Amino acid sequence: MSTLFPKFSKTIDGGRVIMEQRLLQNTNNLILDNDICTGCGICAEVCPETAITVGAIGGVQRGVVDDGANIHVDETICSYCGICVILCPFSALSLEIDGKESLPILEKDGFPTYDKGTSIDLEKCVRCTICDDVCPREAIDRDVPLFEGQDKEGLAKGQAVKLNLTFTVDTEKCTYCGVCGTLCEAINVLHNPFTPETGNVTGEVVWDETQCDGCNVCAEACHADAITITREALGPALLGEVTIIEEDCCTCLWCEKNCPTDAIKMNKIFEGEIVFHAEKCPGGCSTCVDICPANAIYLPTPAPVKDLKKKQEAVVAVNKDFCMLCGACVNACPAEDVIYLRRDSIKIKGKETDLFKKIKAKLCEPRTSKVLEDRVGEVELKRL
Ligand code: SF4
Ligand code: SF4
Ligand code: SF4
Ligand code: SF4
Ligand code: SF4
Ligand code: SF4
Repeated sequence: MSTLFPKFSKTIDGGRVIMEQRLLQNTNNLILDNDICTGCGICAEVCPETAITVGAIGGVQRGVVDDGANIHVDETICSYCGICVILCPFSALSLEIDGKESLPILEKDGFPTYDKGTSIDLEKCVRCTICDDVCPREAIDRDVPLFEGQDKEGLAKGQAVKLNLTFTVDTEKCTYCGVCGTLCEAINVLHNPFTPETGNVTGEVVWDETQCDGCNVCAEACHADAITITREALGPALLGEVTIIEEDCCTCLWCEKNCPTDAIKMNKIFEGEIVFHAEKCPGGCSTCVDICPANAIYLPTPAPVKDLKKKQEAVVAVNKDFCMLCGACVNACPAEDVIYLRRDSIKIKGKETDLFKKIKAKLCEPRTSKVLEDRVGEVELKRL
């Protein structure tokens, strides 16, 4: 007799893979977003049920293996505990119970989470574009109003900077010609009725401060030299806000190291060591450069011939400041014993449970890659 419940299924919806366990009382879904997954393999290491296997990450990257995803979850083995969701540093996984995102293990049993501690000191931040430009994970939300003409969410012109503006019209000089009003939305030149009794053009120049950014075009264009504008910027910073979307941040520190005002603070989630023995790299390979989600690996600029001095140049190198020890490069490297990675500590908040201690020990095992001779293009982790 076949059992009615649980029922299992796996569906693919664009870049998402949805694992389902249907019970009598509720439905659990573990959802993998392939467009976000970097192939770090941390989920596979932390899964208490060993329900996740890492695919041929480097082989896929180099186009020698045809595989749909970096990782594969066996929906029938998974207990839908959510530990992989909590510990994926890139937020590529989510758990839904009856269609609602939920992590009962956090709410009921207690389990620690990464302590990224991201913060931007808005007093110091000058709302520049640097952190947004350097971030390899699109984790910066730069919400700064445009100076001119923005009407997003009702923001009026000129709100990017707090200005003290004055606008005066010398009514002795003004001819009410209307030129300033045709140039700028902030000015409306009203004419009184043209009566043969007076035979004069008279009226009023109406100024809307909320539309004016003090550009001075009206004053420059006034043939009668009747307009005076004064503009004083109040406060050193642009209005608006720059924030870090913590769940998308992998703590690579690109932003922190490049912020011109030292406004950003955060913790790296992993501390440890990474070493490249690039002299063993097969020629032409740059898989790790392409796979690194933190933009930490690079192909060094070749030294001028006169400086070579018979020593072999490294073909690939890592900037350790930006490496967050995710391990994706180790999983992807097609050569053996080239990248050596060791995590010494994990920055967490919450209670370090016994289960977490076991997981931590695994994550902190030093590793490199091992070539699988019988499966072309594939490697596995070699724990050291
Ligand atoms: Fe797993 Fe890493 Fe992909 Fe997250 S990013 S799903 S931890 S392989
Ligand atoms: Fe493993 Fe739990 Fe993730 Fe399922 S939800 S794959 S059991 S860690
Ligand atoms: Fe610029 Fe730093 Fe502010 Fe980012 S946090 S916008 S880099 S000043
Ligand atoms: Fe982006 Fe890296 Fe800064 Fe996080 S630490 S916000 S991923 S640049
Ligand atoms: Fe991850 Fe660091 Fe390797 Fe980049 S260099 S893939 S951040 S371990
Ligand atoms: Fe290729 Fe590995 Fe060398 Fe990177 S370290 S270039 S992945 S062989």
